[in-house]
Amino acid sequence: MIDSLKVPNRYFVTTLSSALTSENPCLLRVVLDSPPNRDTFSIQMPGHAKAIWGSVFHSMTEEIHSGRLMEEDLESTMRIRIEERLAKEEELGMPWATIDLQSTLSIFEIKRRCRRLENLRSELKTNKSLPSNSSGRVKTTGREVFVSGFEGRLTGLIDEVESSSSGVTIIDDKTGKILTEDGVKPSYIKQLTIYAALYQELGYADVKSIVLRDKSGSEIFSKTPKQIELTQTISELMELMNNIDYLVELKDIEKLAKPSCANCSLCPHRIVCNSHLEKMHSQRCEYPHPNLFLGTLVGIFNPRANTGKLKLTIRIDDNLFHANVNETWLSSDVEIDDEIFIHAYYLDTKSESLLRPRKHSHAVTKRTL
Ligand code: SF4
Repeated sequence: MIDSLKVPNRYFVTTLSSALTSENPCLLRVVLDSPPNRDTFSIQMPGHAKAIWGSVFHSMTEEIHSGRLMEEDLESTMRIRIEERLAKEEELGMPWATIDLQSTLSIFEIKRRCRRLENLRSELKTNKSLPSNSSGRVKTTGREVFVSGFEGRLTGLIDEVESSSSGVTIIDDKTGKILTEDGVKPSYIKQLTIYAALYQELGYADVKSIVLRDKSGSEIFSKTPKQIELTQTISELMELMNNIDYLVELKDIEKLAKPSCANCSLCPHRIVCNSHLEKMHSQRCEYPHPNLFLGTLVGIFNPRANTGKLKLTIRIDDNLFHANVNETWLSSDVEIDDEIFIHAYYLDTKSESLLRPRKHSHAVTKRTL
């Protein structure tokens, strides 16, 4: 993997805000989540295929901002692009990363996202008062405001910017949990702070406040960022990006990869990450972090035909375990007597010989190391 890793040509605000607020960030994940690696190493855990929607939406938004998206029918364009990405996943040997584009949920989601894109495009087309730069008119307030810094190497999309005579308010809408036991998630505050820093660096306006809203639209957090904080944020970003670039150039996987229960728990790259595969099968993680197991496949059974589930018997350290797996999430090259990795499973608390799969994303792959 490390030989094919490239220095990112672009970073995303969301990715760097998590790295800057983590005690022991995995910089390899940052690299894998950033282009061009994001598109090269697209083999991901099942369930993460929905990330494709986000990435297609993000790139279409950027193209609208820079006037490069000419297609009239945005829904068809989005569909085609998602299908192309899925086909690429399949070509790379991950037939399980599928999305049913005909399901009601998919149709609703595509329409919802394309409405936002349509609004953005018509606003950019019709609002003659918007300031311009070399790529055309620039939207600096309202929904979906695009910001960038470090000569375009860092980009982000602000959900909403409100303007008043005293300055602007930068708002991020979250659909998931904003609060933890210790308060607001630090990475969310950092994300807003980075948006504010980039917004000011671009010379748009002074940022009066940053706000987090939950899915009901209620304000959960707000604050006025200090100028020193914004300046420090720019320095931190520069240092982090330089450090990552340097480590990738050196191919220093030891310093980049930080496999741990917390870091790898929701990482979509676990299937292909050698650092994770080499270390984590010998560690046991506490709930809610799922585990990686390494064993030998002893048997495959289909307990109830047409349920889409298979039952596996696996030998791990001379003990036999049973585990269910979604049929399409069992890698097609796996055969009896193979050494296999069992990704995102828990030891059952009641039965000592049962491994329980994480419902929304688990996988079984052949050990090739
Ligand atoms: S699996 Fe773990 S070590 Fe590998 S990239 Fe993801 S977080 Fe980093």
